[in-house]
Amino acid sequence: MKENWKSFLKSISLYRPLRSVYGRWPSFINRIVYRKYKGRGYTCNFCGAAYMKMVPEYPGYDIEKALTTNQVIAAYGENVYCPDCGSRNAERLIKAVISSYLPIHKKKVLHCAPERRLFEWMGQFSDVSAVDGSYAANLPFRNGAFDLVIANHIFESIPDDQKAMREIHRVLSRNGAAILQVHYSSFLPGTIEYPTLRDPQQQAALFGDKEHVRIYSLDDYVLRLIQTGFRVRVLTPSELAPFRRYGIQETESVFLAYRSH
Ligand SMILES: [Zn+2]
Repeated sequence: MKENWKSFLKSISLYRPLRSVYGRWPSFINRIVYRKYKGRGYTCNFCGAAYMKMVPEYPGYDIEKALTTNQVIAAYGENVYCPDCGSRNAERLIKAVISSYLPIHKKKVLHCAPERRLFEWMGQFSDVSAVDGSYAANLPFRNGAFDLVIANHIFESIPDDQKAMREIHRVLSRNGAAILQVHYSSFLPGTIEYPTLRDPQQQAALFGDKEHVRIYSLDDYVLRLIQTGFRVRVLTPSELAPFRRYGIQETESVFLAYRSH
C-alpha cells in the first residue's frame, strides 16, 4: 500500500479496522491477493508456502504513538501473516526457536494463551496443556508439572506480572525451560507501568495495546525474570538471523528462562 494512501486511511481512522478485517480474511482470498508475491524470500515454517513477502500489519492510529515514541519492539511489520495458512510472525519465531533450541518430543508443555497453529503443531508429538493468559498468576497445575512453558505476550497485561513469573517458575520441572516473549523497549531507561489502569483507550495511548498495563525496558524485564529465580538466556536478533527466512520480526530478541533450582 502506498504511504500516502496509508496516511489517508489513518487520518480518517479506517486503517486499523481495515487491517484487522484483512488479517482475518480466509486463506483462499489472501492466496489470490498475494499471488503476485509468490516466490523466493520467505517460507512459512508451518505450511511451507514461499513468498517474496508476506501480509503486512502495522499498528493502528490509537497505539502507534506509544509504540514509536518508546521504540517498542512489537510484532508488526511487512511480513506478519502467512498468506496461505494465516500463521503470524510471532508463532513462526517460536516454532523456529523450539525446533532449534528446545527438543520437546514427548515432553509436557504448557501453552499460555495458545496460538492455534503452534498449539496444534506441538500437540503432534508432545503432551500440551493450554491455559488462558489471565490465569497465569494463578496456574491450576501442580509444582514441576511441565518441561516447557510458552507465554507469548501475556505479562504486559497482568497487573502482578512477577506473581505470574513465579507461577511459571513453580510449574516448571527441574531444568525446565520457558519461552517468555513480551513487547519491550531497549530505549526506555526503566519499565513504564500503571498496573491498576482499566481504561482501554488510555492503555492503548500509554502502552501501545488496549489490554497492556506496562511497557518493559529490556534490562528491567530480564532483571524481573532473574529476581524470580530464572536463569535467563536472551537470543539476540543476530543469533536469530537464520530464522529471518520464515518472515519473523527481525529486531526482536527471544527470552529463554530456565528453572535453575
Ligand atoms: Zn503458512
